[in-house]
Amino acid sequence: MDHRDCRKCGQCCKEIQIFFADPLSTSEEEVFRNKGGTVIGKLAKFISPCRYLGSDNLCMSYENRPEWCKEYFCEEAHNGR
Ligand code: SF4
Ligand code: SF4
Repeated sequence: MDHRDCRKCGQCCKEIQIFFADPLSTSEEEVFRNKGGTVIGKLAKFISPCRYLGSDNLCMSYENRPEWCKEYFCEEAHNGR
């Protein structure tokens, strides 16, 4: 990612999104909804800020952040919007 285009909105550290290969069944959807998530087709989403997200929307554990965080692709930052 070109970090110059990151708006530092922190959204990528506030939302957990899980993509599934197939749409969830009604009972699977219910499990996620009961946990406070929203389900749209193949996507389950939770609003849950990461404990390492600072008040300045920067990672307080940047050097030691998980691989998943390092590999995260932000379309918005890439498009420079
Ligand atoms: S990578 Fe994207 S979502 Fe994350 S802070 Fe930057 S602009 Fe926001
Ligand atoms: S560890 Fe850092 S980069 Fe990863 S989600 Fe938490 S605040 Fe964001």
